[in-house]
Amino acid sequence: MSAARPRAAVIGAGFGGIALAIRLQAAGYDVTLLEKRDKPGGRAYVYEDAGFTFDAGPTVITDPSALEELFAAAGRRLSDYVELLPVSPFYRLEWENGFRFDYVNDQAELDRQIAAKSPADVDGYRRFLDYSKAVFDEGYLKLGAVPFLHFSDMVKVAPQLARLQAWRSVYSIVSRFIRDEELRQAFSFHSLLVGGNPFATSSIYALIHALERRWGVWFPRGGTGALIRGMVRLFEDLGGTVRLDAEVAGIEVGEGRAKAIVTKDGWRGEFDAVASNADVVHTYKTLLAGSERGPSFARKLERKRSSMSLFVIYFGLRRHRPELQHHTVLFGPRYRGLIDDIFNRETLADDVSLYLHSPCATDPSLAPPGAGAFYVLAPVPHLGTAPLDWDRVAPVYRDRILDYLGQRCIPGLREDLVTVRTFTPHDFRDELNAHLGSAFSLEPILTQSAWFRPHNRDDAIPNLYIVGAGTHPGAGVPGVVGSAKATARLMLADAGLAPA
Ligand SMILES: Cc1cc2nc3c(=O)[nH]c(=O)nc-3n(C[C@H](O)[C@H](O)[C@H](O)COP(=O)(O)OP(=O)(O)OC[C@H]3O[C@@H](n4cnc5c(N)ncnc54)[C@H](O)[C@@H]3O)c2cc1C
Repeated sequence: MSAARPRAAVIGAGFGGIALAIRLQAAGYDVTLLEKRDKPGGRAYVYEDAGFTFDAGPTVITDPSALEELFAAAGRRLSDYVELLPVSPFYRLEWENGFRFDYVNDQAELDRQIAAKSPADVDGYRRFLDYSKAVFDEGYLKLGAVPFLHFSDMVKVAPQLARLQAWRSVYSIVSRFIRDEELRQAFSFHSLLVGGNPFATSSIYALIHALERRWGVWFPRGGTGALIRGMVRLFEDLGGTVRLDAEVAGIEVGEGRAKAIVTKDGWRGEFDAVASNADVVHTYKTLLAGSERGPSFARKLERKRSSMSLFVIYFGLRRHRPELQHHTVLFGPRYRGLIDDIFNRETLADDVSLYLHSPCATDPSLAPPGAGAFYVLAPVPHLGTAPLDWDRVAPVYRDRILDYLGQRCIPGLREDLVTVRTFTPHDFRDELNAHLGSAFSLEPILTQSAWFRPHNRDDAIPNLYIVGAGTHPGAGVPGVVGSAKATARLMLADAGLAPA
């Protein structure tokens, strides 16, 4: 007779939580995935309004190989669960002065566009790409899914970090190679996609560029929500249990170990191991409030820097706008100044830079026939930087952004509006339990990365684990799927199970 499977609880059904649950269930744990909200996905939640489907968060799906590997670890094929559609251009970048750059995966076309703007930068771009590839090899391929539990793990990689000048910022590295200001912006804004200020985030994050060039940018048919549904289906096919509307109120700790989970509605379950995909501050401050470890580590975490928040508007228009690309970045009049305001100023800036999502460019099924589903997001300060009254600010800010979009790239937007909803820093805080309403957890600066980030396994409670944006390697879908691999590796080794 085989021994009973060890029981694990995973708190939170974000990308990281679901990916971890799949790996554990596939390798021999009996896993219960508990999610506060009525649907899985976390940041990748889905809204359905008036026949429109809105992915709430991630839309730029990169590194499909990490997803394929996840499904393969469970003995399945990603393509049997969800279809990934290629997106080109990866992004269209537009400035107020009329300059437009289509970021594509075609070297000749990139060279042509760069040469038209700044001939001297054609060669500089090649050198930047070489740099980005070198960081990608070291930082992503080698270390992206390896837990950093001991300071010695950090010391081992110090020579590579020094060689790659990881103390420099993304913008500073890009500027070493590229002279034109708009092109500098075009190749440095990416760290914002994972919550990093390009002027403060380690140049390690320049790897995102090589990652996109290597594997492309993808979008699941049916939206990112279809990928989440596919992952949850896989988990359930493997025999895992999902509990929705199950907000965890506390993790019980006894004799130095996590023993049980209690939900707000009074359900209690005992587990051999507990992993939290919930916000790290929430995990230690609230869920572990009754333990010795929780409050003391929470205080340390509260002293760290959180990444910015976002203000998101989901809107449906009577008419699809075929002239818009799937992903557009609309740079405002200021770059450095605006980013500085977002990360450090106590109030909203007067100007905006926006990311506009037009998924019907790739998949028209996300809106009624002939109509268009969109979202637009503006990075904004988190609630610790700017404690704004978002109930009052949101309608005004929403109208300002919609008017700006109407003038800049969607004429007639107001007349065509069928449905609109917003998500504010208050919603990040209240819906997702995100500390200070941060959209990406701890800011990815060098002193909060790798060993300096909360560890994939807690230092004091040996059967408590962390997965998702708050642990190594960090935010973004490839990041949290990598964190699940790192955390699963520890949990399986600790339980004496072989990886699937
Ligand atoms: C608007 C937006 C756009 C983005 N765009 C991209 C993109 O294009 N590409 C990309 O790669 N990344 C993008 N990101 C980043 C990416 O979405 C996140 O880094 C990633 O999805 C976070 O996953 P996670 O595993 O950390 O979990 P999360 O998504 O943070 O999920 C955590 C889950 O825990 C649940 N939870 C919290 N507390 C409890 C509790 N007490 N009990 C039970 N459950 C609880 C929450 O409800 C939530 O479902 C975007 C983020 C946002 C916000």
